[in-house]
Amino acid sequence: MKYRHPYEELGLGPNAGAGSRKHVIATGTWRAFKPVVDTEKCTRCGLCETYCPDGTIKKTDEGAVVDYAYCKGCGVCANECRVRAIEMVRETD
Ligand code: SF4
Ligand code: SF4
Repeated sequence: MKYRHPYEELGLGPNAGAGSRKHVIATGTWRAFKPVVDTEKCTRCGLCETYCPDGTIKKTDEGAVVDYAYCKGCGVCANECRVRAIEMVRETD
């Protein structure tokens, strides 16, 4: 059965109020660091998805996947990951 985020049941996104996903223009361009997932370490627990304030990381069968078009690079996902599967890497020009 396909995993459904609790917010999906409510018909809301984690950022329902701010609604960055409703905008057409990607908002990840000001990011200084980006989260990079080590899919070997990732246990598919979904904590990063639960805590991401922007709804831009999703748990999949292949590991957590980041939507870099909208990720702000805040690092919350990396901080919450219990197995340190997410590394914050500096963006390069
Ligand atoms: S919190 Fe860490 S282990 Fe859990 S799904 Fe996210 S990247 Fe994978
Ligand atoms: S760095 Fe922040 S915005 Fe980007 S996926 Fe992680 S928690 Fe979400």
